[in-house]
Amino acid sequence: MYLKRELSDSLVAFYGLHFPFKRLSKSSLRYEVTLGVGGNVGDVKRRFEHLFFLLRFERRVEVVRTSLILKNPPFGYTQQDDFFNSIIILKTSMQAKAFLAYLMRIEKKFGRRRSFANAPRTLDLDIIFFDNRVIKTENLTVPHPSWYKRESVVIPLAGVSI
Ligand code: AMP
Repeated sequence: MYLKRELSDSLVAFYGLHFPFKRLSKSSLRYEVTLGVGGNVGDVKRRFEHLFFLLRFERRVEVVRTSLILKNPPFGYTQQDDFFNSIIILKTSMQAKAFLAYLMRIEKKFGRRRSFANAPRTLDLDIIFFDNRVIKTENLTVPHPSWYKRESVVIPLAGVSI
């Protein structure tokens, strides 16, 4: 079901049903968000498909594009399974703070438990960019810090930002 391409010894690209995806009609919602999506517990690619449908049925969100799925080694705490990561570009009518709360509800729905930094996770949702905003509050830093140093963000993003 997935086309698989080995990019290097440690990186594998997967191409599936809605990853990548491109919306054909124009979106009318206000803010453009670049969302980082990741996970390394259970069937992560299947979970990404569920997430895709969940987002498409949310009227305050329109999915514009998605990237391929990249399998890559963990950083930080390395004694855990490889991660699967993707990028979703979407439009939303929600403000950044409300959108973050919405993402945290989705993470919870998919069974995310917060344990320790860089721990294994079912679904991790990160706001990489929120429109052209620079945000620094206690709960939200946008652009996401050090996104440009991570293969898990930069490689999928390269394919959707042209
Ligand atoms: P984690 O899921 O472990 O990456 O961390 C989630 C926490 O990071 C949340 O409690 C957010 O308040 C905080 N956070 C700060 N900036 C961001 C961002 N740009 N996207 C998502 N979460 C963020």
